[in-house]
Amino acid sequence: MTNALPPDATATAWDFDAELRAIDDARLRRRRRVIEAYDGVRLRVDGRDLLAFCSNDYLGLAQHPQLRAAAAEGAARWGVGATASPLVCGHSLAHEQLEQDLARFVGMPRALYFYAGFPTNTGLLPALVGRGDAVFSDALNHACLIDGARLARAEVQVYAHADADDLARRLRLSTARRKLIATDAVFSMDGDLAPLRELLQLAERFDALLLIDDAHGFGVLGSGGAGSAAAAQLRSPRLLYMATLGKAAGVAGAFVAGSEAAVELLMQRTRSYMFATAAPPLVAHVLRTSLRLIADEEWRRVRLRELVRMVREEAQLPAGWRLGRSATPVQPIIVGGNAPALRAMQQLWDQGFWVPAIRPPTVPEGSARLRLSLSAAHAPQQLRELLQALAALPG
Ligand SMILES: *Cc1c(COP(=O)(O)O)cnc(C)c1O
Repeated sequence: MTNALPPDATATAWDFDAELRAIDDARLRRRRRVIEAYDGVRLRVDGRDLLAFCSNDYLGLAQHPQLRAAAAEGAARWGVGATASPLVCGHSLAHEQLEQDLARFVGMPRALYFYAGFPTNTGLLPALVGRGDAVFSDALNHACLIDGARLARAEVQVYAHADADDLARRLRLSTARRKLIATDAVFSMDGDLAPLRELLQLAERFDALLLIDDAHGFGVLGSGGAGSAAAAQLRSPRLLYMATLGKAAGVAGAFVAGSEAAVELLMQRTRSYMFATAAPPLVAHVLRTSLRLIADEEWRRVRLRELVRMVREEAQLPAGWRLGRSATPVQPIIVGGNAPALRAMQQLWDQGFWVPAIRPPTVPEGSARLRLSLSAAHAPQQLRELLQALAALPG
């Protein structure tokens, strides 16, 4: 009897087609495009070359000849798979050395390397807080910080975007046992910055911890690309600095850095670290070369600043559209509705430019946008061509 179907077998709670139709009706269906070849900022799709303004490869390192060579060398030395989680037998000398390099790179006592950024944050938050504690989360935080806070089962206080006053008020009123402030450093869909110095001062005043996610600042901001915390000269045992290595670093993975004791405790407690196979040692090996390139090739950050300046000074947009307030390589063009944002993406696509339309739930309802991502691999002339195409859109 336990396997019996419900009396009316057509009455099922699982109508996938209806759910997909609802996604279509809201113009929210996502499609993947298959990339047939990568050549710097040129991507081949359906046999056509498109100029890409969609990647997070801010420094243009993902296809660097030295990284290709390091990958081959790493594979020759280590093989491919890590074979186990880091706490069993998956932590190689390559991982160990990478962690030392990362800590030095960001100027913090110790770093712990993870295979990807998303599980880093979904693991860190529950390792740090639980019931009776509170997470103070910026309204525009990345999905993995939001999910991490949910998994932690702590109270979640969402403060107004980048608003240190709203945060201060909430901290003052909170009776939580322990308080964790979590924020993107560079907001992923807006490109603007969190007020990091003020947030750290609040952490100190209210006995809180500050966790910053610098996925879009690492490699791009700060001297030598050391990231947002270094750029803001943050130094405190209350700071946990997390960044990802699949964006500006051009490879894969993520890390968290902090005091010796904090990082040791995170290694003991973070379930997404403890119960997942370590990243391939060859990836750790490649990342060591990537860190060297990030620090040495300053011209890449100089080029990025030049491209950002061009967008800010030269972009002309159709009526009703606006450029977000960003000084970073993430330059959002806020269009509003989902349908017009998709139409603009398609029109640019037809002209050979790939600029993604970002829609809810990735961004708030009514703020669909073109998210322009700049890379040191873009020539100024390529950006100029895009800006001309944008100015000519019907809007
Ligand atoms: C991309 C991103 C992540 C996830 O990192 P992955 O390594 O891609 O999993 C985390 N946080 C922010 C802010 C991001 O933009």
